[in-house]
Amino acid sequence: MDEIPLCAPTVGNDEARYLQECIDTGWVSSAGPFVDQFEERIAEEIGSSRAVATASGTAALHVALRAAGVGEGDAVLMNTLTFIAPANAVRYLGAQPIFLDAEPEYLQLDPEALRIYLETRCERTEGGVVDKRTGARIRALLVVHVLGHPADVEAIAEIADEYDLAVVEDVAESLGALYDGDPVGSHGDISCFSFNGNKIITAGGGGMVVTDREDWAEDVRYLTTQAKDDPLRYVHENVGYNYRLSNLHAGVGLAQLDRLEDHVEAKRTIARRYTKAFSDLRGVEPMREAPNVRATYWLYTIRIDPDVHEGGWSAFHEALDEREIQTRPIWQPVHLSPAHDGLSGDCEAAERIHSQLLSLPSSVGLSPTDQDCVVDAIRTHAQRG
Ligand SMILES: *Cc1c(COP(=O)(O)O)cnc(C)c1O
Repeated sequence: MDEIPLCAPTVGNDEARYLQECIDTGWVSSAGPFVDQFEERIAEEIGSSRAVATASGTAALHVALRAAGVGEGDAVLMNTLTFIAPANAVRYLGAQPIFLDAEPEYLQLDPEALRIYLETRCERTEGGVVDKRTGARIRALLVVHVLGHPADVEAIAEIADEYDLAVVEDVAESLGALYDGDPVGSHGDISCFSFNGNKIITAGGGGMVVTDREDWAEDVRYLTTQAKDDPLRYVHENVGYNYRLSNLHAGVGLAQLDRLEDHVEAKRTIARRYTKAFSDLRGVEPMREAPNVRATYWLYTIRIDPDVHEGGWSAFHEALDEREIQTRPIWQPVHLSPAHDGLSGDCEAAERIHSQLLSLPSSVGLSPTDQDCVVDAIRTHAQRG
């Protein structure tokens, strides 16, 4: 029997047709019609006026933060319970991330933690809001929508507005999710997406920056293309990057984008089946969805009560591993990561919860038979002894 992977891409003939067209026309590199089309289609999807394709989601974050004015010595508020990429992007700019707690129900950035941090640890000065401990200017709020579920962006944007902070959204895990009916990524000042192989749609790799701010979009385009000030004579006034996306990747992304709604539906169906199958298990909490959102359930993640199940997530992980079913614990909260042992607020909830969470196979192409195997393995382990 083959392994049941955590989250594998679904690709086929649609992608092949786009790739063949690249080869037939010779547009295989970092310019071409599919790059332009991919940008237009993503902008349309989010309802923004501008989109710029990038080589990865991490590259998108790097240039979006720079366009938002983040630089050397600044500070950026962000989730602690997240994949590490956005924290790395802050550091690339010589800025310091300040990590904030998660709310325990949906695992997203806690608006209350944000408010408390700003009220108690920061002060307003003429130059803007500064952190009292370091004197660093807080330039932006980086809100990461984790696991396919939207953060409470309205509450968060309201606080950011009060303090005049730019809101940068990391939507890498949550393309297709809706908040009050609006696409996630449409609430902040600038948003970043990823098309890595494990995301809800893939380009084989790649990213996108989306914004309504024309000046920021132009900055992003300039920075991703080596910051050419005179493209004929190659005059450069700034240090840029080669963060362009190839036409090959964009073609794959376009084919996938046509199926975004199908992918969301597939993941939501998988989620419904898991939730139903675990409803009677003690100490295994299903993943939740806030009442005003549509989650994509990018990675279906259960919470295992270690007081009920000895060995917690790792015992489940081992039991499923024996059946060649891939599962994964959630990320170490970034404020605990040796790579980023920087400033943080009180992150009690993230510290308590992260060691209880386990993500289950959630591929768009997960067959009902394979999902039954996963369910059986979880139920058998939960009811052992
Ligand atoms: C995957 C991911 C990224 C990075 O995307 P890449 O395209 O792999 O660079 C950024 N942020 C989050 C939250 C992610 O999950």
